[in-house]
Amino acid sequence: MINDAENCRSHPDDAMLERVSLGKADITETLIVEAHIHYCMRCYKRYFQLQQNLQNEFQSLGSAETVSPLLIDDDPILGALNDKLDIEVSKSVPSSTDPLQQILPPTVVDSLETLAGLRWNSFWPSKGKVSLLAEDRVGRYQLFLGIIDPGATLPGHKHSLNEQTLVLKGRYIAGGQTFEAGEWSETRPGDEHSPSAGLDEHCYCLIRAHKQGFEFTGPSRWRNVLVNMFTYPCGAPPPSIVEIIKSQC
Ligand SMILES: [Zn+2]
Repeated sequence: MINDAENCRSHPDDAMLERVSLGKADITETLIVEAHIHYCMRCYKRYFQLQQNLQNEFQSLGSAETVSPLLIDDDPILGALNDKLDIEVSKSVPSSTDPLQQILPPTVVDSLETLAGLRWNSFWPSKGKVSLLAEDRVGRYQLFLGIIDPGATLPGHKHSLNEQTLVLKGRYIAGGQTFEAGEWSETRPGDEHSPSAGLDEHCYCLIRAHKQGFEFTGPSRWRNVLVNMFTYPCGAPPPSIVEIIKSQC
């Protein structure tokens, strides 16, 4: 379901959008950005405009590259958008009774072997859960599906690199801001945050974060002791986010 630009108040930055549209992004970046453009007409148009620019460059250089039939139209961008919309609508027909099928964008569903096979990890005490969806080839960045319970607040923490969150359903509250479906929240390295969900419903979100470099902060700092005791013996590589969450249970 593509919304009007006005409905999405926050977006991935241009550099990330460009990497994805030109096929230069890793799988985690690609999935979360393509999930965002599922909601956002502004970024949808930008995505196709960047692809069109690349095609034009090839043509101006006399390259043997052919122009995709998708982009050959009186109005190539709108033509491509319409075609894409048709594809999305056909994919939106429910084919499963799993409620996640209705919440996850088709591009994410298509990337998974099965929704039923997702492995979930929860913080103690349970405030929600996360499941690892994808990891880039070099094991640097991971993409998670997160579900935060209504009204719950996750333990305070920070990351050593940027963390991106895309809201899929419900409300995600972080840094004094409220983000709704399709909206993009990004924290910078070292930013402390303890996101929460709206009171009335679960918050479903995609979270892209560096595999390591996660640390509890503020009143939740005691949790780092458990991490060190159970998953970070001397000389071992730093624990992954999944290992850290498991150490809390
Ligand atoms: Zn956008």
